[in-house]
Amino acid sequence: MAIQFIDLKAQQQRILAAVQENISRVLAHGQYIMGPEIKELEQRLAGYTGARHAVSCSSGTDALLMALMAYGVGPGDAIFTSPFTFVATAEVISLLGATPVFVDIEPDTFNIDPALLEKAVAALENKDPEIHPLPQGFEGLRPRGVISVDLFGQPADYDRINALAAKKGLFVIEDAAQSFGAEYKGKKACALADAAATSFFPAKPLGCYGDGGMVFTDDDALYAKMASVRVHGKGSDKYDNIRIGINGRCDTLQAAILLAKFEIFPEEMVLRQDVANRYTNLLNDNPHIQTPLVREGSLSAWAQYSLVSEKKDEILDALKKEGVPTAIYYPRPLHLQGAYAYLGHKPGDYPVSEDKAGKIFSLPMHPYLTEAEQRQIADVILGAVS
Ligand SMILES: *Cc1c(COP(=O)(O)O)cnc(C)c1O
Repeated sequence: MAIQFIDLKAQQQRILAAVQENISRVLAHGQYIMGPEIKELEQRLAGYTGARHAVSCSSGTDALLMALMAYGVGPGDAIFTSPFTFVATAEVISLLGATPVFVDIEPDTFNIDPALLEKAVAALENKDPEIHPLPQGFEGLRPRGVISVDLFGQPADYDRINALAAKKGLFVIEDAAQSFGAEYKGKKACALADAAATSFFPAKPLGCYGDGGMVFTDDDALYAKMASVRVHGKGSDKYDNIRIGINGRCDTLQAAILLAKFEIFPEEMVLRQDVANRYTNLLNDNPHIQTPLVREGSLSAWAQYSLVSEKKDEILDALKKEGVPTAIYYPRPLHLQGAYAYLGHKPGDYPVSEDKAGKIFSLPMHPYLTEAEQRQIADVILGAVS
């Protein structure tokens, strides 16, 4: 069998009976929209993460959007976030007419750098782009919040981010699309900020068989607003519309599938740690290869296992020749994407993101990767850099 980048087939073989049973139950009761599986999934996952409330929704992107809408974000608001992420993180900010203020990443975790975040807030407060790069039109912006991304599955540094945000009166949204199942200082991802958004896109650590997502919070008022936004801004019922909302519901069928998948998720998280540790043991002695750093007190969900090397092109060529699938997350930081040309950034504004974008690549990563497969992959990589 060829090595899979993410092996959803191997997982399906384990859970197929449970998935089919759960789907059959939905077909029998026929409540395709907001059926009983929705509440059940929300309660299960809130319990797992330790967050007080969970609102399931149609995607990770809508999860982020619903959190921002619940905070009433709009034109004139600056939201600080990373340029080294999937476009959805910043796209939701722009969709609401607010402005992303990008902040560069730490070179070893690829997550937003709290020290630079402090500078970016100061630059905006003082209207001084000498302190930190600011987007065009910064004169009219006021700081509102932060979306920090738990990239590749490792939580950002929430102690420092939350402390700064509290001091400056900013909200913090955790983009946990890649980190469901991760941990930070004894707490689970999705419970590390004012609100958190995760994704059930099939390739994420906990994925469904389509699109899905969830927002989490401990804040009762925010929870009520996000639940309202999810269903067209409903009040007492769906024909009582008290705010502008979206159609952001999760399908009952997807919730039923997730309930079956969640049964083996904690075990899969342990297997992911084993796979990641094996890669690191095989690869971390080579001076041409930077293996992932997971901070003490943190546990990554290993959405991706990413290496950095100045010999990236040679390594990718060699892996391709051997039929090993790879991916690059992310080849171009968001401040240099066409969609964000309107912010007026230039190369050099975010040097760490730009440098990593040229050298980073991700290896096959899933709970069912065998030691033999990983040895084969490591041998190809080490041969390519020698
Ligand atoms: C996948 C992802 C999203 C978006 O999730 P969808 O379910 O695909 O909408 C947002 N942010 C990050 C960091 C992601 O990896």
